[in-house]
Amino acid sequence: MTSKTLALDGPAGSGKSSVGRAVAQSLGWVMLDTGAMYRAVTWAVLEARIDLTDPVAISLEAANTTIRITTDPRNFSISANGHEITSAIRSPEVTAAVSAVSAVPDVRELLVKLQREAVAASDFGIVIEGRDIGTVVLPDSALKVFLTASPEARARRRSLEVDPNADAENIADTRLAIMARDAKDSEREHSPLKPATDSQILDTSELTLDQVVDQLVQMAHHAYP
Ligand code: C5P
Repeated sequence: MTSKTLALDGPAGSGKSSVGRAVAQSLGWVMLDTGAMYRAVTWAVLEARIDLTDPVAISLEAANTTIRITTDPRNFSISANGHEITSAIRSPEVTAAVSAVSAVPDVRELLVKLQREAVAASDFGIVIEGRDIGTVVLPDSALKVFLTASPEARARRRSLEVDPNADAENIADTRLAIMARDAKDSEREHSPLKPATDSQILDTSELTLDQVVDQLVQMAHHAYP
């Protein structure tokens, strides 16, 4: 089991996934995208046409869903009950429903257990990214970083990721959607989105991807000499 962990948290569009993958590649570590796991359960819940206000039915569906997720930062894929859903988990329907599903305590308990098992099974270092990694999943990690950026910067990045020709109206819509999702993720009772008290906070609004990656790689060398 590895003792080298980077707990990488932050709101939607803060660049955690791209940054996390690049940092893991640079360090020769693996990477776990925990948001993808909440999205996979949400995909299964939507497929089963479960009412998003029914936490008992959501928990049951989560317990009956087998998720397989890769941790190779160069080659990401995820499946639920044998269905390959790597692209499907990014659909607007899943994105709109994921905060409701991830607020259900039983879903979180189940996924946190899987996340800790993935950390225990990794022989190299692991970058693990999400919303509650530093606070709940790996509270003892020696390296915790909370990435943040202005809502404008996050909306611009997210929109251009989805459509390289996104215009000002698309960006304004995305800004509203990510702010609504952040509000739900921050205000929920269980494991809300927030920096751990011992997190290093990095505002990436004015930084390029390479600059953020360089800073995190340096932090990792410092934490694990
Ligand atoms: O990171 P991503 O945007 O893919 O995460 C999707 C959703 O999954 C978040 O909006 C949040 O509701 C949930 N999530 C969570 N805890 C995590 C990771 C993601 O609640 N550790």
